[in-house]
Amino acid sequence: METEISTLRLSEHFYSIQGEGATAGTPAVFVRFGGCDFVCSWCDTLEVWKKWRHLTFDEMDALFDSQGYYGNLRKGASLVITGGNPLLQQDAIAGWFNRLRELDREPQRFNIELETQGNILPTRELARWVRQWNVSPKLANSGVPLEKRIVDKAIAWYATATSCFKFPIRAFDELAEVEAFVRYHRIRRSRVYLMPICNTREEFMVLAPQVAHWSQKTGFKLGSRLQLVLWDKVVGR
Ligand code: SF4
Repeated sequence: METEISTLRLSEHFYSIQGEGATAGTPAVFVRFGGCDFVCSWCDTLEVWKKWRHLTFDEMDALFDSQGYYGNLRKGASLVITGGNPLLQQDAIAGWFNRLRELDREPQRFNIELETQGNILPTRELARWVRQWNVSPKLANSGVPLEKRIVDKAIAWYATATSCFKFPIRAFDELAEVEAFVRYHRIRRSRVYLMPICNTREEFMVLAPQVAHWSQKTGFKLGSRLQLVLWDKVVGR
C-alpha cells in the first residue's frame, strides 16, 4: 500500500520511564509532537512543544533506528506519543504507523500510549493503533475557556475506550470540579488520577501528601510524577 507523503512536527524524543498514570514505571520511548490548542497557565512543556522540526516518515524511521528505539520497543517498552496535543496531527501519526508497517517494523506489536487532553475525537485510523489513552482534561485552574476544554462528544468516546483520566489539581476546592466531571461523563472512578500540579521534586513532595489525603477522601487515585521524583527538573531522561 502506498503511503501519502507527509511530515510530522517533532519537538523531542527520548527513552525513559513512564512517570504518570496507569502505566507509571514502564520503560518508554517518548515522542513529543509540537503544537497545542490550549495554553494552560501552569504548562511545564510550553517551551518544548512550541518548537519543532519537520520529519518525513522515513526520517522518523531512521531516527528510531539510530537511537535504538526499535530494540527498546521489542523488549517491551511502551511508545508514548505526547505533546502539546498530538491529536492536532493525528492523520500524520496514523500515516507514520502505516509507513512503519510497510517497512516491516511491526508497529502492530508496539504498546502505544497516546496522551491528549480529550477534546478531539480520534479517527478510526489512529484509534486502531493505540492501546492506552492517557487523557488529561483541564480544569478551570488551566485558564482555558470551558467551551474549548470540555467537548462532551469526545469525552464520551474516551470514557468507553481503554483510558485513564489524569486531572491536574493543586487546591482542595478543585475536587468538586473533578467530581462533577466524572459523574456527568460516567467515568469509572478507578480510572481517575489526581495529578499534583508541580514542576519540581520539591513542589511535588509538598503537594503530593495533600493530594494523597484528597485521594483517600474521594477514592480517586493519587497520580504519580515519577520523572520529578527520580530526576527533578532534568528534561529528556
Ligand atoms: S494541554 Fe498540556 S501541553 Fe497544552 S498547554 Fe495545557 S498542559 Fe501544556
